[in-house]
Amino acid sequence: MAQQETMTIMEFQERFSTEEACREYLFEKRWPNGFVCPKCGSVGEPFQIISRNLYQCKHCNHQASVTAGTIMDKTKTPLRKWFMAIYLISSDKRGCSALRLKKELAIAYDTAWTISHKIRNAMKERDENYQLCGLIEMDEGFFGSPSKGAGKRGRGTDKTPVVVGLSLGEKGEPEFIKAQVLETVDGKSLSEFAAVTIEQGATINSDGLPSYTELSRKGFEHQSMVYDPINNPDHLKWLHVVVSNLKAFLNGTYHGVPQKHLQSYIDEFCYRFNRRFWQDQLFARTIFACMNASPFTRYELIG
Ligand SMILES: [Zn+2]
Repeated sequence: MAQQETMTIMEFQERFSTEEACREYLFEKRWPNGFVCPKCGSVGEPFQIISRNLYQCKHCNHQASVTAGTIMDKTKTPLRKWFMAIYLISSDKRGCSALRLKKELAIAYDTAWTISHKIRNAMKERDENYQLCGLIEMDEGFFGSPSKGAGKRGRGTDKTPVVVGLSLGEKGEPEFIKAQVLETVDGKSLSEFAAVTIEQGATINSDGLPSYTELSRKGFEHQSMVYDPINNPDHLKWLHVVVSNLKAFLNGTYHGVPQKHLQSYIDEFCYRFNRRFWQDQLFARTIFACMNASPFTRYELIG
């Protein structure tokens, strides 16, 4: 939808000011060529059960909704608020904390928290469709929550290792990233990360940590170089920039996050980073991700 691509927040609010407008948008995204019954596959105008926002197939009487099978399924929160949450989380590179969502959307904190985690999960699932390829920089960073005992900080033992892979373009510019929280930094976990997130045969640059040598036994071209910021300042340069941006994001927007949810905030960062050149399309892309992500309940989030 061309008119949507450069929407300001004001235009966005006007465009999606009613539940009907949101539902129509979802209908068009879900059935771009007209209604198709999800049960029997018949096409053709359904009966509209307006009071319950359902579409009933004229062939088999199945009642379908635009939100069935999406993260908005059976939600009690108005779609208008979901749309705004998706807009805020996807289009601001600093993201949007549950506290801010609560205030902006006038919803309960728990609801804001659940909605934002569901959106992050949709972002994660979307990014899982892609692997890094070509030339990859790989390194690990250590993330510590500032809420942990300040006296302990900096020792390393209370920090969580996160491995980051960054693919570089032909001119050495950063392209896409993947990042994962690890239990420990060892050859097994690093090569498992690479096997899932990086295309077989790709070239991986790392520092001299011996654990990385395992990569060359797992079908990757591995080049290691001892980190030397004085004589070789460009080695893993972009990767270090990305890691420090990720740390700034976690501390700035979320003021440090509990280890249990660190991965989902990292997924959010990676999702936006990987689409930073499609800023205008972020809402449309993210709502598409939300329509196709696996729905899960608040209970599953907390459990
Ligand atoms: Zn049907």
